[in-house]
Amino acid sequence: MAFRVIPLVDQRRDAPLPAPRDEEGVRAGLLQDRLGRPLTDLRISVTDRCNFRCSYCMPKEVFDKNHVYLPHSALLSFEEITRLARVFVDQGVRKIRLTGGEPLLRKNIEHLIEQLAALRTPDGSPLDLTLTTNGSLLARKAHALRAAGLQRVTVSLDALDDAVFRRMNDMDFPVADVLAGIDAAREAGLGPIKVNMVVKRGTNEQEILPMARHFRERHGGDVVLRFIEYMDVGATNGWRMDEVMPSADVVAHIAAELPLLPLEASAPGETAQRWAYADGRGEIGVISSVTQAFCRDCSRLRLSTEGRVYLCLFASQGHDLRQLLRGGADDEALARTVRSIWTQRGDRYSELRARRPADEVDGGPAPRRVEMSYIGG
Ligand code: SAM
Repeated sequence: MAFRVIPLVDQRRDAPLPAPRDEEGVRAGLLQDRLGRPLTDLRISVTDRCNFRCSYCMPKEVFDKNHVYLPHSALLSFEEITRLARVFVDQGVRKIRLTGGEPLLRKNIEHLIEQLAALRTPDGSPLDLTLTTNGSLLARKAHALRAAGLQRVTVSLDALDDAVFRRMNDMDFPVADVLAGIDAAREAGLGPIKVNMVVKRGTNEQEILPMARHFRERHGGDVVLRFIEYMDVGATNGWRMDEVMPSADVVAHIAAELPLLPLEASAPGETAQRWAYADGRGEIGVISSVTQAFCRDCSRLRLSTEGRVYLCLFASQGHDLRQLLRGGADDEALARTVRSIWTQRGDRYSELRARRPADEVDGGPAPRRVEMSYIGG
């Protein structure tokens, strides 16, 4: 099989911080961008390191032993992350997801979770606090994460078959350990658990039904399995449109054996379309980022490991908040910057990609996009 890998260059370029604008009408908690999208959801990457080498995310050929990771001094400290998170919460954020890299590799991550769990919205409510993990360390850490105040987890798992899974994570990591992690998370009360499977045509589509059967039979409604379309994030995975399996095909494939009924979205801006098993034994979700872009509902903002803010998974530039933080800016100055960044936002990468001719989307020069392992999935 032809496999194209594009060497990684440092793409962490900064966009200039936008000048604060006239703030009339921009009140804390009511931020809207140029397309009327509210800011409610913050993803925080806590490390650029991962112990897996999934070819669609951190291919071994690029992220090899010579790859230079961020030095510890470049990472935001837990105190810096919490301070920024508080500013974002004052501006309307209600949900925080920790990600990476592999977030459970960050030492003492429980301490950060404790600090974030203590934050309150302006009306005194706790945040929706969750974390996305590859599950490799979850069996060991689930109880401590729950005790620290984490509410839920999302576990990434691309196959049930051990050989396929070992090949996909490219570190020979066994599937049994991830399954044990999911069991431990459920036992610790980190539910409802979501399991995310990236479907790459020609690699793991034969795993769709075994995954569906396994999770509904073992966990029923306590684990929601979600199928993600393989995306053209970053610039190193050699993405091709013909390797994307459209969500509509995934749903049809499952429904041929296990009848499905459409469900309403459970929250505005939800990325997944939900389907219930007709026999009542749980539900699945599909995330159609390529074939049915959902930019117009995007209320997410990403904070990179070293404190850059990215408005889109496909962005090529971030806004450096660490510089402000470490330069002595007070909370009001940080809040003003966040308001400027969000209110000037107008991106809708995936919708525009969907309008481009196929031969331009596929195989064209790789845009200078940051890697997902750097800004967090
Ligand atoms: N290490 C954690 C994990 O495995 O969940 C968090 C970071 S990972 C970048 C977050 C999610 O992004 C995972 O579910 C992963 O499968 C997904 N992902 C990475 N590259 C992707 C791609 N090209 N298309 C679709 N999903 C991708």
